[in-house]
Amino acid sequence: MTQLSSKLPRVGTTIFTTMSALAAELKAVNLGQGFPDFPMDENLIEAVSRAMRGQFNQYAPMAGWMPLREILAEKIAGLYSTRVQPETEITITPGGTYAIYTALTTILQPGDEVIVLEPAYDSYVPNIVINGGVPVLIPLNMDDFSINWPAVWSAITPKTRAIMINSPHNPTGAILQDPDIAQLKALVAAHDLFIVSDEVYEHLVYDGRPHLSILRYPELLARSFVCFSFGKVFHCTGWKLGYCVAPAGLMKEFRKVHQFNCFSCHTPSQAGIAEYLQNPETYQSLGGFLQQKRDHFIKLMEQTRFTLKPSSGSYFICAGYEKISSEKDIDFALRLTREYGVATIPVSAFYQNGSDEKLIRFCFAKKEDTLNEAVGKLVRL
Ligand code: PMP
Ligand code: GLN
Repeated sequence: MTQLSSKLPRVGTTIFTTMSALAAELKAVNLGQGFPDFPMDENLIEAVSRAMRGQFNQYAPMAGWMPLREILAEKIAGLYSTRVQPETEITITPGGTYAIYTALTTILQPGDEVIVLEPAYDSYVPNIVINGGVPVLIPLNMDDFSINWPAVWSAITPKTRAIMINSPHNPTGAILQDPDIAQLKALVAAHDLFIVSDEVYEHLVYDGRPHLSILRYPELLARSFVCFSFGKVFHCTGWKLGYCVAPAGLMKEFRKVHQFNCFSCHTPSQAGIAEYLQNPETYQSLGGFLQQKRDHFIKLMEQTRFTLKPSSGSYFICAGYEKISSEKDIDFALRLTREYGVATIPVSAFYQNGSDEKLIRFCFAKKEDTLNEAVGKLVRL
């Protein structure tokens, strides 16, 4: 038999798949994989259905449905006071993960180093490795999940080509702050790096804080690929639709990769979302809606022996279980699913070396009943 030489020898099945499968098998409440269990907005379903019935069913343009790119440019101007060109600077992609992958494929040559801040969303490192790049892993400060900038500065070498940024952050719920932006500006000015900014939780920022999108800062945007996901913000993760924003010169190269990988995305969804986004209420209300869920979950969890960490964004919150057990996080998460009927994600899955901070991640993007049921089980611990 012909032998296959694995391009990702160190990679297995993702923790999200594993925990969701276990939750389904054991009928556990699934607060693991990040997806909402409440219905998405009927108006968006209607808009996409209308687009299908209206025969918007053939290939969209390679870079995306133009009315969608136009309304996204308007939304970006309204939110971040930045003008991006829909013709040349926005590309619609099949999800945020694909946008990140394509950005890294566009940037990287074999041997290029990329700074990754850990814990990190699990696709980044395999995306770098498969493109011949070398991930350089820097831990976040675990007391407040902030970026250890001195460590980032020290990790730069002549081979460093890019830095991955993720705000709001998965799994910690941390968000970028003004001093981070100042550090990032200084770093890329000194070292001529690209930025891949994962902003799939763009609208899920809480407590009246602003989302410090890279799109706000012209000197950062000039060297960035900024990646978004409609699935994540509009409660339709199964649609797998998102977009990337980058300056025209970078986007030209991004599209060269995109056109031979996917070419174009689902047309009726693009047409429907374009119509839906005409009303800014659709995205302005998202932060408040999810904040209520976060606050409800935090309140419920006061009855348990878990120690919740702060979460300022995303739909995740991490918890320590030092008052309950000293098991490894993966063992604890498996036991929680099997014996108590609640699935979560062990944070060690977000580290390449499996570093165990004894934290588990909860997804609170769930119906109140689901959160009540889950915590009803967790109080027994
Ligand atoms: N980045 C982060 C941090 C995520 O949590 C997710 C969620 N899956 C993605 C990217 C990918 O989004 P999508 O489902 O649109 O590919
Ligand atoms: N982003 C989701 C999470 O962190 C999962 C997406 C996936 O399963 N790949 O839970």
